[in-house]
Amino acid sequence: MPIARSNINSKNKAMNLQSIYIILLMTITINCSAESNKVAILYSDVMLEHRTGENHPEKPERLSSAVSAVKKNNALSKYFIWPAITKASNDYIQLAHTDDYINLVKSEIEILDGDQQVLLSTGDVVISKDSDEAARFAVGAGIAGIDQIMAKKASSAFALVRPPGHHATSNRGMGFCVYNNIAVAAKYLQKEYGLKRILIVDYDVHHGNGTQDIFYSDESVFYFSVHQHPFYPGTGRENETGQGKGKGTTLNVELPEGSGDKLLVSSFEQNLVPAMKNFNPDFILVSSGFDGHKDDLLGGLSYTSKGYKSVTTILAELANKYADGRIMFMLEGGYTASATNDSIIAVLEALTETSE
Ligand SMILES: [Zn+2]
Repeated sequence: MPIARSNINSKNKAMNLQSIYIILLMTITINCSAESNKVAILYSDVMLEHRTGENHPEKPERLSSAVSAVKKNNALSKYFIWPAITKASNDYIQLAHTDDYINLVKSEIEILDGDQQVLLSTGDVVISKDSDEAARFAVGAGIAGIDQIMAKKASSAFALVRPPGHHATSNRGMGFCVYNNIAVAAKYLQKEYGLKRILIVDYDVHHGNGTQDIFYSDESVFYFSVHQHPFYPGTGRENETGQGKGKGTTLNVELPEGSGDKLLVSSFEQNLVPAMKNFNPDFILVSSGFDGHKDDLLGGLSYTSKGYKSVTTILAELANKYADGRIMFMLEGGYTASATNDSIIAVLEALTETSE
């Protein structure tokens, strides 16, 4: 029966086409999920051009050493992508800083030449002729990391940057920081992608006075800091909890010298995790300073790389629970290269183990 046979043949063809379509769909899905466990590493050599002088702890070598430690790690390298970054324009820096301050930085730097190094007039920040360019790349690294995550090219990101940012207020650079990299990142997420609630976690040994200050009255950005007290810069007392509409979205935990991993981890479990039930963040940003490490030149909190790994796992779980897995780390302090490098690797290990 020629007609019936042709019907069967076309039915078979349709079924074959359907199977091919299903296989294609499965392949696309597998490829997508393979991409989504990538970690974007944001870095540029331009940030090494911020010269601070031979004996300054915040020196270019701390960043070049960290980058080479990440590049040399064969076990993790398959997870990393290294997107290109560009410098942030005024349009982005203005999201967290006043025009007067941006102009002040520019004018104090553009008169420098050669190896000249001076202090920025607003605080303890050494500047040299390429410092503005380097600081703009540090801000740009955060923007690029966010773009990668929001485009689902990576599930998480680590911006390896200097100068650090969390001490810079809207109108004052201090504590080695020129622009507040993470504050711009939070504002960028809200402005460019319409995300409503951003969590900034800061475990640098120093309190991030600049970040706290910028978002102190802003209920849309939750700032959690665990830091050594008493210590520089002196802010971050536990009774500093925000003001106005921002009352309750600043949370500080003070730890005494020598606290160690156990108190670091319990500050996350007992303070941060319960607070997120109400806040329900859309994105997590981490001011990732490693100067709380037991071997660090400046800090005294006696953490180890295991402690940083444990809190990364807690943060990644929070990100998976509330924020569609979206989390980005930005380097802040960390002044002993071996301790900083081990800690960065520990964070990256936790990120690759916990991505969904
Ligand atoms: Zn620090």
